[in-house]
Amino acid sequence: MKKINFGKLKENILDLLYPRHIKCIFCGEELNEKSYNDTCETCLKTLPFITHSCSRCGAPVALDNDGVCLNCKANNFDFNLARSVFAYSDKVVAVVHKFKYSKMKFLYEPLANYLCEYLSTWEISPDIITCVPLYVSKQKKRGYNQSELMARRLAEKLNIPFHILCTKIVDNISQAELNLKQRKENVKGVFKFNSEYRRMIKDKSILIIDDVYTTGSTSNELSKMIKSNGAKGLYVLTFAHGLGNQKL
Ligand SMILES: [Zn+2]
Ligand SMILES: [Zn+2]
Repeated sequence: MKKINFGKLKENILDLLYPRHIKCIFCGEELNEKSYNDTCETCLKTLPFITHSCSRCGAPVALDNDGVCLNCKANNFDFNLARSVFAYSDKVVAVVHKFKYSKMKFLYEPLANYLCEYLSTWEISPDIITCVPLYVSKQKKRGYNQSELMARRLAEKLNIPFHILCTKIVDNISQAELNLKQRKENVKGVFKFNSEYRRMIKDKSILIIDDVYTTGSTSNELSKMIKSNGAKGLYVLTFAHGLGNQKL
């Protein structure tokens, strides 16, 4: 009779419970232990890190001399600045979709690392980190709020307080199906400020974390709520910039 290898069995069970990140989160390539942030060398070299962008919203687009994109010129945003780590690409979209829709919760760690690294190069100093909230039934169905997981991890790494400053009170339809004008309308009044935080945020600088920035409508609506309750500066940092991809 074959002897049971209990050590191996335990290892297999642990692997099932806590999948080790041995594959590149972007392309699935097997990784060695020294790989940077669960990402293979090829992806690191070819991923669309944003290095040149609109100075206001972080869009990776061709700019006028003043460095501000057309979307920002046409809109008066309530946040001061927004930035994204990655521009749109199939690999970036795929990892966001896996995180949001395929219950691959563990992705919050490497994604938060990318946010953390970006933040170290961005000259802002937030007092509080928050996230874009999900509607309660949506969060229940998904099992977690992907933006909250990234934001909490980032706050923990930087030793900055994390609070969910607003609640989503309207289960609006997904922004992905809508054009710019409809997106603005669709997010109007969907967030409620949690008044217990009013004193805490007074004159403070707040960083909002989300997975994707597309037209800025969601971040702007949330910023408006937080700003109107006394915060001084609102900043937005997302993992990806969804410009040119309405399906994000
Ligand atoms: Zn890869
Ligand atoms: Zn812009």
